[in-house]
Amino acid sequence: KLVSREHQREDTVIDLGSCTIGGEQLLIIAGPCAVESKEQVMTTAEGLKNIGVQVMRGGAYKPRTSPYSFHGLREEGLKILAEAAQIYDLMVITEVVDVRDLDLVSHYSHIIQIGSRNMQNFTLLSEVGLSNKPVLLKRGFAATIEEWLLAAEYVISAGNKQVILCERGIRTFETYTRNTLDISAVSALKTLSHLPVIVDPSHATGRKEMVPSVSKASIAAGADGLMIEVHPKPEEALCDGFQSLNIEEMSFLKLELEKVALAV
Ligand code: PEP
Ligand code: MN
Repeated sequence: KLVSREHQREDTVIDLGSCTIGGEQLLIIAGPCAVESKEQVMTTAEGLKNIGVQVMRGGAYKPRTSPYSFHGLREEGLKILAEAAQIYDLMVITEVVDVRDLDLVSHYSHIIQIGSRNMQNFTLLSEVGLSNKPVLLKRGFAATIEEWLLAAEYVISAGNKQVILCERGIRTFETYTRNTLDISAVSALKTLSHLPVIVDPSHATGRKEMVPSVSKASIAAGADGLMIEVHPKPEEALCDGFQSLNIEEMSFLKLELEKVALAV
């Protein structure tokens, strides 16, 4: 298979221009769960730029469990992200949930995110496989590592080799945490595949106080980077505030993570 280490011995390194994913550099993607307003995104972008984060996340299309929850600002949200990226010289990543929105999302975003709920949306996978933008593929919350790699195979076999795998926790019997981070998946993927692997400690734990320790463990286990939810005022966030760090906490954690990365 194209995703396998047998097919390609060397690690895939994705070049984003101002940074790389999967090489020597530690990748930190940070930003809010959802784009809520221009002010919120600009404040976040400025803060992230100041602390040296190069890639900002933010959902414009949110896959929410309840149909009555906030579903994102859609195209307006994409425009806000793109404007912030331009002003603060950042890259942005945002999720596409529907194949009908793919052209629009690809137009505004540097990296396309496929969320956990869509990991086996094979039409969407084949379609992003035709794109020239890097694709971040989150693990389905009940997907095995093999199913996840086969999902990545859909993208690569359609022609797009720039796939990043993101472990975000799986569903287990444990309820203290939002999901259970499968740290061993990081190690397994590094053996099985040449693709870059990152971890989302925010959705994995659902608790901001656990984000620093779990992030450090992920880097120690061999992850190429992290995607962390950061909000200028987590207590006011429209979604996932409970698991979001503020800018200052992110700044402190980034310094700690750089030390761990040097040690591995
Ligand atoms: C997200 O990262 O915005 C998200 C919805 O996470 P997941 O798809 O992992 O649930
Ligand atoms: Mn979220």
